[in-house]
Amino acid sequence: MKTWEQYIRKVTPYTPGEQPKTANVVKLNTNENPYPPAPGVRKALCDMDSAILRKYPDPGATELVDAIAKYYGVKSNQVFVGVGSDDVLGMAFLTFFNSDKPILFPDITYSFYDVWADLFDIPYETIKLDDNFEIIPEDYFRKNGGIVFPNPNAPTAVEMSIDKVEKIIKNNQDSVVIVDEAYVDFGATSALKFIEKYDNVLVVRTFSKSRSAAGLRIGYAMGNEKLISAMLAVKFSYNSYTMNFPTIYAGVEAIKDDAYFKNLVEKIITTRENAKTKLKELGFTCTDSKTNFLFATHKSAKAEDIFNYLKTKNIYVRYFKKPRIDNYLRITIGTDDEMEKLYLALEEYLK
Ligand code: PMP
Repeated sequence: MKTWEQYIRKVTPYTPGEQPKTANVVKLNTNENPYPPAPGVRKALCDMDSAILRKYPDPGATELVDAIAKYYGVKSNQVFVGVGSDDVLGMAFLTFFNSDKPILFPDITYSFYDVWADLFDIPYETIKLDDNFEIIPEDYFRKNGGIVFPNPNAPTAVEMSIDKVEKIIKNNQDSVVIVDEAYVDFGATSALKFIEKYDNVLVVRTFSKSRSAAGLRIGYAMGNEKLISAMLAVKFSYNSYTMNFPTIYAGVEAIKDDAYFKNLVEKIITTRENAKTKLKELGFTCTDSKTNFLFATHKSAKAEDIFNYLKTKNIYVRYFKKPRIDNYLRITIGTDDEMEKLYLALEEYLK
């Protein structure tokens, strides 16, 4: 007879980047935005009457959904919100990837995809990026149970042109194509315009990067009404009340303040381009980033050694001990001051 322990679902969980608790850390390891969210976010949280917490929140998070729909000029029934894009992507996998055919995603990509596939028992195949870490659309023209990729990709930071994205969507109209646009605001082109043209594309976004609100936990998906209503049915069969009052109120303010948002994004792009020049002077090569991070390899020093050295200086970057990328560092763009500290430490190590 089997014991209860033998019936437990066994999974290998995703390992997030470190969240060090010590003060004075330069934290460039989880692609957070180094600046605070829009001022309206603070006001919304301070003005919230805590008496409202007595009640359950609106399961549809209508105010937030409407604010997102208004911002992008889409219909509210084309928007789904969740607890960060991780939650949204997880719901999308559960909703759309139910075929016995494998889902497809790049071999170097966001490392949650294979975790969800394993969790939900979805067969998958990984498709090799080319030598420049680019996705080749034609590699995705084969029988599949769905497709998912980030654009720009992570951790490589490389963007696939919008024409190539369309090729993948167009040639896979029997399956759902999820375009994970966590980093799209930092200079890349969105696939959002395709949601009117194709009913098989789901664009997934987050408030965690360009909106400076990783701690709020808001992600959203935009797509054809049929896709969104299928996701809502799954969500309401799982947990209706995921979006709490503070998140909804603050989220509405975070998306409304376009001037603040544009200014922040511009600032990060400028710092990124300066960082690329500086890192080049120090002997690094970076991929062409359209994100809030750089993916960098050094001509002589080992990435793992640099990573460990930086940690002794209280500077955290990300290192992946994985084939093909085990000599790269992923460095989040911080404030100018934080970047200066990084350059100083690197100069010291590399001299
Ligand atoms: N997609 C990609 C490609 C990411 O890098 C991340 C951030 N780790 C996410 C989705 C999830 O972000 P969040 O859940 O904070 O929205």
